[in-house]
Parts: sequence; C-alpha cells; structure tokens
Amino acid sequence: MIGWREFMRHVYRESMPAMGEANQLDQTRDLPEAYWTGDTDMVCLSEAVGHVRDHGYAHHIERLMVLANFALIYGADPHELNRWFHLGFVDAFHWVTTPNVVGMGTFATDALSSKPYASSANYVNGMSDYCSGCPYYHTKTTGEGACPFNALYWDFLKDNEETLRGTGRMGLMYSHVDGKDDEEWAAIRERAAEVREMGADGTL
Ligand code: SF4
Repeated sequence: MIGWREFMRHVYRESMPAMGEANQLDQTRDLPEAYWTGDTDMVCLSEAVGHVRDHGYAHHIERLMVLANFALIYGADPHELNRWFHLGFVDAFHWVTTPNVVGMGTFATDALSSKPYASSANYVNGMSDYCSGCPYYHTKTTGEGACPFNALYWDFLKDNEETLRGTGRMGLMYSHVDGKDDEEWAAIRERAAEVREMGADGTL
C-alpha cells in the first residue's frame, strides 16, 4: 500500500520532463486577477485564495474543486496555475504540485487521470457552505447574478468536445451537452465570455 504523495512521486518520475510542458487542451489564458489579489465577490474563490494568502494552505476540496477547477474551466494556462500553487503553498515542491495541478487539476496531461475534474457550482454547493452566503446564484447558469462556474463549465465542455467526448466517464456530461438547444448555447457562450472578461479585469 502506498500513500498519495508516494503515488505523485512515482507519476512525476515517470512523466517528467513532458509533464512540465504538457497542455493537451491548449489552455493559454492568464489566471483571473482574483488569484493574485483575493479580491472577488465569489465567496468560494475569495475564501480559498484567502486561505492560501494567510496560511500558505488550503484543504483538498478548495485546491482541487475551487482553485484548480475554476482555472480549468476558465481556460487558464495550467503552468501559470502550477507556478501560482508553487508560490503560495508552504508544502509546495515541484514533484508535488506538478502532478496534482498539471495532471489532476487541469487535465493538461492524461498521465494521472482519465477525465478532467471539472464541475459546476453544484459540486461546490454540495461540498461547502459557501454558496449560501454568496451574491452569485449557484442555481443560475446565465443572466444577471449567475454563478460564474456554471456557464464556464458548459462552455469548457463544448470547447473541448473533440478531446473529451470519448474520454472515459464523460458520457453523462455530454448527454447534458447534447440536450441543450441553440438558444441555451448562445446564452451560455455570452455569459462565459462576460465572466472571462470580468476575470481578466478583476471585477468577478
Ligand atoms: S455561488 Fe458560485 S461563486 Fe458563489 S460560492 Fe457558490 S460556487 Fe462559488
């Protein structure tokens, strides 16, 4: 029996140096400003970034399903996110952050997992009490006050359909993608673009 860190060490040894440059989804956007400033109305992101700024630490769900997940569906460069983790966490070593962030968190390589850990606000709401105190509505995908996670999630699946549709365990998610009509997609695309603009100019 081995622990997670031993497994990460093994993946790192097997997958470097390719993992250090992997970007199979070709994601190149700058991280949202809020990762550097902590200044955002998104309670989950504000709290998670705040924990890193204050303590150099955030727990597993915040790392994977808030910080990495949001950067993933936003389309951020996985290696900028990796550098951000490396700068912020007291327990960051290259062999720890790279498999966790580049492999598991952003699916920049399939060396570690067979599907991306992408989710909408449903997951954050199920795993935390952040949404109840957030000015964004976790139940809304488009329109005023819609949670940024939701439109980005669908937009991410649509943008990366060619790579992800046939990937293991993605069938259910793509059945929901297929169930949306043109009008819904237009609204999702518009909201996702708006969220990315807000992320870039620090107004999320
Ligand atoms: S509503 Fe959205 S932004 Fe707000 S805490 Fe929930 S998941 Fe985060």
